[in-house]
Amino acid sequence: MRTAFDATKFMEARCIHQIPRFHRRIDSFIEPTLSSVMSTPIDVRYNWRLLRAGEFRLDGGSMFGLIPRSVWSRSVPTDDKGRITVQHNCLLLERVGDAPLDPAGKPLDSPKLIVIEVGTGDKLDAKSRELFAMDETSIHAQLREIGCDPRDIGAIIVSHLHFDHAGGLTRLPLAGEKPDWTGPASGMAGSRPDHSVKLTFPNARVVVQRREWDDAIANRSVMTRTYFRDHLDPIADRLMLIDAPAPFVSYITPDKADEPMLRFDQRAIEVFPGLRVFRTPGHTWGQQAMYFKDSAGNTIVFTPDVLPTAAHLGQAYSLAYDVEPYTSMITKTWFLRQAAAENWLLVLDHEPGDPLRRVRANEKGWFDLVPAG
Ligand SMILES: [Zn+2]
Repeated sequence: MRTAFDATKFMEARCIHQIPRFHRRIDSFIEPTLSSVMSTPIDVRYNWRLLRAGEFRLDGGSMFGLIPRSVWSRSVPTDDKGRITVQHNCLLLERVGDAPLDPAGKPLDSPKLIVIEVGTGDKLDAKSRELFAMDETSIHAQLREIGCDPRDIGAIIVSHLHFDHAGGLTRLPLAGEKPDWTGPASGMAGSRPDHSVKLTFPNARVVVQRREWDDAIANRSVMTRTYFRDHLDPIADRLMLIDAPAPFVSYITPDKADEPMLRFDQRAIEVFPGLRVFRTPGHTWGQQAMYFKDSAGNTIVFTPDVLPTAAHLGQAYSLAYDVEPYTSMITKTWFLRQAAAENWLLVLDHEPGDPLRRVRANEKGWFDLVPAG
């Protein structure tokens, strides 16, 4: 394994000594825009609950990339169309206690209720719902079911903006409701020119990496139909765009077992007190994971499509949907190593069974997933 020593020293010598600590400027390519990014982490905990925002099915071959079907299908069942079952796993977070105060005694920006990931939502037409065997529920239906009004949510954090992670940011209007946005329907929401949507969370900001937003707007994806205007345009004026540093600068091709060039505390940006996001590139360039502590002392890491289900544990088990499968392998390797070392409690974004897992290093030089306990 190449050590991160040289690279980190390089970065430090070049940039960090010139940078005011408050702004967390990591290198000269990165322009932080968040005035709320804080220099010292504050010990704010969250209570959380898992929301299952709907089961659906995706093509098994696409979900396992270059792994032969004869291998992955030993452990993952398929339906008669070759599809595997996945889930839209999401989290509802509630901050424990009052909003923390800044040194001047003013409350910091700290939403009481935060949702992580929102799934596909309810906008797909009947044909598309059938294509994905999508069940009838949605993030807003799940919240209502537990007595939570989506209007009370102060912030949404999505890992990336593909429709099965961000489509639920908007919803179909109810009868008599005035739409928030009208425009051409995505190909998967019918073909009406007067397609209308409402913001699902009218009082929430949407936290996403700037890189992800830029790629979504430009439709930079190996899929032609995933970054849809009907979940992107309506949220454009409520974005909190984050510039977390990538684990490796773009002109370096890391080896498979390389550690990221910057320490975790340099890469993980605190977007609200006690809640951090960090880049996990490969599936998309701007994909992020979310990190917080709960009141029981667990470190919870919401795990995006670097490890969508427990069946994707193997290093080469990338997705055909990934923009850079090689980068996915590298990300998965350092992510699992850190998860094992720090006993993270992972929430796997698409796992249809128990998505709460911890990671243990094994004697074969790789990792096992165990129940969270
Ligand atoms: Zn995706």
